[in-house]
Amino acid sequence: MRLILLGPPGAGKGTQAKILVETYNIPQLSTGDILRSAIAAQTPLGLEAKAVVDRGDLVSDAIVNGIVSERLDAADCKNGFVLDGFPRTIAQAEALDAMLADKGVALDAVIEIKADPDVLVQRVINRAKESGGARADDNEDVLRKRLVVYKEQTAPLVDYYTAKGLLKAVDGTAPVEQVTEAIKAAIGN
Ligand code: AMP
Repeated sequence: MRLILLGPPGAGKGTQAKILVETYNIPQLSTGDILRSAIAAQTPLGLEAKAVVDRGDLVSDAIVNGIVSERLDAADCKNGFVLDGFPRTIAQAEALDAMLADKGVALDAVIEIKADPDVLVQRVINRAKESGGARADDNEDVLRKRLVVYKEQTAPLVDYYTAKGLLKAVDGTAPVEQVTEAIKAAIGN
């Protein structure tokens, strides 16, 4: 099963990805998690990405495409994966198409988790409280910035994947279990 979870920050991509990992026995590929680990470990990648992530902007396509390309080569991705937070631009989607074509594999579905921006602002504020502020980008100002970036750079992917017949939308404001059921129904198993 090769899936993409698409949706604005706070829509529940990470939560659903973790459930899909168990359901389909596939790894979660989260570019956000990979970047946060690199930032915490102060690797060259982390040092380069930190300021961009902290202010809610997108890291360059070249950097994240490189991360994903390397990750997709790992043995655990052979039978599938759930991409969470990638692609975020049309250029990234095109790069992903090329990577998958190279491997002779195709995406099964792109799940758009839809949610109202106001609900998301509240969710992310709650997440910041619960995590004790562990994510430097979980505050209201940065979130609003990330929502604008989503609208401008990532939302066009809805049309991109609709045109390919891959897009399935689910309501991300429903309870977690219902969102999972809707995703499974959309995938068809
Ligand atoms: P996330 O955990 O997916 O919300 O990502 C957190 C932050 O990491 C984003 O706000 C971006 O700064 C950066 N990031 C994650 N994935 C990508 C991507 N595919 N392209 C560019 N930047 C990304």
